[in-house]
Amino acid sequence: MTFEIKGWCPGALRPMMSGDGLVVRVRPHAGRFSAAQASGVAQAAREYGSGQIDLSSRANLQLRGVRPESHGALLSALAALGLLDPDALAESRRNIVVSPFWSEKGLERILAEELETALASSNIVLPGKFGFAIDCGRERVLDQVPADIRIERGAGQCLIVRPDGAECGLAVKASEASATALAVAKWFVESGGMTGGRGRMAAHMRNGATLPHALSGGIQPVVPARQPQPGYTAGGVLVGVPFGSMHADTLEELARRAPELRMTPWRMIFLPSAHEMPAGLDLVTRADDPLLRVEACTGAPWCPQACSETRSLARQLAAFVPEGATLHVSGCAKGCACSRRAVTLVATASGFGLIPNGTASDHAVVTGLSASQIISDPALYLGGS
Ligand code: SF4
Repeated sequence: MTFEIKGWCPGALRPMMSGDGLVVRVRPHAGRFSAAQASGVAQAAREYGSGQIDLSSRANLQLRGVRPESHGALLSALAALGLLDPDALAESRRNIVVSPFWSEKGLERILAEELETALASSNIVLPGKFGFAIDCGRERVLDQVPADIRIERGAGQCLIVRPDGAECGLAVKASEASATALAVAKWFVESGGMTGGRGRMAAHMRNGATLPHALSGGIQPVVPARQPQPGYTAGGVLVGVPFGSMHADTLEELARRAPELRMTPWRMIFLPSAHEMPAGLDLVTRADDPLLRVEACTGAPWCPQACSETRSLARQLAAFVPEGATLHVSGCAKGCACSRRAVTLVATASGFGLIPNGTASDHAVVTGLSASQIISDPALYLGGS
């Protein structure tokens, strides 16, 4: 089985063609959409696309099924909402994930704005997937989220800038953080971290790259927190979006119920200041919802590389996945939805393969399974009894 690895992320100005039309990624500023912006994005998704919206693992929204002839009008709508970068290069550089749990008194928003400005005014060319994380709460919540340069809290709650893969970071004042992060990014490029438009910081560090003295520090970051779960949290409510995919109507309804929506990299949306769980929508509102135990990629008919539908099968199997386990249903061996080991069902041209504990590209111990065969005896295949 072969599959295509693109090595870059779609944007609004540089969309990616998929089986259902263009995928147009919308990057909020500081991870935040105002209710008016979220409502505008929902309307644009219906008017210029299929109305289907995905949450990306970089805390962005992706509008699916956009017709190529409507792309220009969609860009105008996004520009009117303040969600369009000046050009595709600036857009690709603005790859910043922000911890969603910031308060107006915190540093996150201002750091994100300063880093956006520093990146926009630089002429640096970074690999397509290179990104930054701003994670400076008392505990780190973006520890498991891919990012190449991190602005975090260190021991004593000082601010540090840490390249991914380094154990320690450099203590900085808040006013120096964005310039230091940009300097580390420039060092990455100049020291040979990027080849053929690709490259990641952790691999560069593993390969023995050494930061210059002025950019290296000895401060360890604070301990990571457990991954947040849907439910009530300090400061608001966190809702899960099944498989990270929702209809524009759901986004619009959320925008009616909250003044602000913060995107997360966990297929969840944080509603700051909300006191009530949004009811009556296809959302995950409890930490024990079985849908949290399943992962499934876009699958057929939307992805041209998919050998099967995936999400309906995953929904039907969710209740049978043992607590603490994860079931991953993948439309092909690329495994876009889940890179960690799990009970994996991978679609091929001749049925599903079962990998009891691995990734979608691992060897299947049983092959040629049909969806109905698996549904008829889930415990046999998922190890539930
Ligand atoms: S894993 Fe799923 S979404 Fe990714 S390429 Fe394969 S079928 Fe498409």
